[in-house]
Amino acid sequence: MGILKLYNTLSRRVEEFKPLNDNEVGIYTCGPTVYDYAHLGNLRTYIFEDILRRVLEYNGYKVKHVMNITDVGHLTSDADEGEDKVEASAKRAGRSAWEIAEFYTQAFFRDTERLNILRPHIVPKATEHIADQIALIKKLEEKGYTYRTSDGIYFDVSKFPDYGKLAGQSLEEKKAGARVEVNPEKRNPADFALWKFSPKDKKRQMEWDSPWGVGFPGWHIECSAMSTKYLGQPFDIHCGGVDHIYTHHPNEIAQSEAAEGVKMANFWMHGEFMVVEGRRMGKSEGNAYLLDDLIKRGYDPLAFRYLCLNTHYRIQLNFTWQALEGAQTALERLREHVRNARARGGDPAQGKIPPDVHRKFLEAINDDLNVPQALGVVWDFVRSHQDPSDKLAALFDFDRVFGLKLSEVRAEEPIEIPQEVRELVAQREAARKAKNFQEADALRVKITELGYEVIDTPQGPKLKKRR
Ligand code: AMP
Ligand code: ZN
Repeated sequence: MGILKLYNTLSRRVEEFKPLNDNEVGIYTCGPTVYDYAHLGNLRTYIFEDILRRVLEYNGYKVKHVMNITDVGHLTSDADEGEDKVEASAKRAGRSAWEIAEFYTQAFFRDTERLNILRPHIVPKATEHIADQIALIKKLEEKGYTYRTSDGIYFDVSKFPDYGKLAGQSLEEKKAGARVEVNPEKRNPADFALWKFSPKDKKRQMEWDSPWGVGFPGWHIECSAMSTKYLGQPFDIHCGGVDHIYTHHPNEIAQSEAAEGVKMANFWMHGEFMVVEGRRMGKSEGNAYLLDDLIKRGYDPLAFRYLCLNTHYRIQLNFTWQALEGAQTALERLREHVRNARARGGDPAQGKIPPDVHRKFLEAINDDLNVPQALGVVWDFVRSHQDPSDKLAALFDFDRVFGLKLSEVRAEEPIEIPQEVRELVAQREAARKAKNFQEADALRVKITELGYEVIDTPQGPKLKKRR
């Protein structure tokens, strides 16, 4: 096992990773709020977390990965005000909140599968863990960390001196940077809701009884309750996007550490944003693309994965169609290396990964997940090395980390060609033989319109699917 080094937001340093238990690593990643589709920025974060898991597994660790589904109670602002996003989306769509949550949960898994993101081992839903959340709030209440306002039960951050340790910000600094205070009943601007009461004048679709009154959990409490339930406390690594460094994760830490009196997690890792022209990609920014948009334009979801692999997770990634095009070309070239090696009789079981190449690859991924560098190692190798079996052995082994499905690439991609297209190709061949080039060209245009490209080779015409 090599030495794995990871950047820890908590210490603001790259540290050697040592698991808490001998051989099993527990990771918790904050999952989606299922009121809408995930956008490419969200997906970048899930790809980063998938790479982390794969690198741990490549190093021989058994990983237990837990990711929550927020299907209730995430309010439209971090200040615990505004509408519940799931209920608001349900209202817009004329569906029930439960149906909306289920629909977008399925959509999320469809997207992550298309990106070859490994499904977490445990995917707990907030709505199925209400009792655990209530139990945790009770514990905090007994220890004196909570207070009641007219709209809910709040956590008093001034009682938890370590509140600012993750963000490296004191409470005073956080206060100074806070927006205009919206809830005058809060004792400190950073205080947050653990339990919200249902509004008196309106019936909510999702609400539960509690010792404090009918209502629903605050957004942060589910992560504390469910991570501890499935991973214990402390656990090894907690992840999310960089936006969570300032509110969501400090709140999780406050809840978990105040309740249990021990550290929540050893490592905190955060993926940088995907941006568009310098602005964070986000639904509210109006610059969010979906994976479906990209597929509609003819891109392979794995080209998006490649694009993400090619920028280190702690660096902002500026999304452009041109960069995506470049990623798709690079991915196609890698696949071409696999096809050629297979066509030349390469057998991965017979191949050997040259030790220096393997060492360089491992050094790169273990240097705080330097996947762009690992890709560089691969490109140097495939361009300079000849033996097809070695090539396949190395590519397939490294792809356990990249997740580009390289081992599924066959020597010749069999493509299903519709009857209509085959007939047009035959007619075009006949026209060409009769030297009727005008008609042959018109037929080519028709074939192109149906989504195929004819390539004339000495062995006759070949067809490729167009993007
Ligand atoms: P949400 O569903 O809003 O809770 O976001 C899901 C995950 O995506 C969180 O870990 C966020 O930190 C992350 N995220 C949100 N916007 C972006 C972005 N533009 N780039 C990368 N990650 C993001
Ligand atoms: Zn969380």
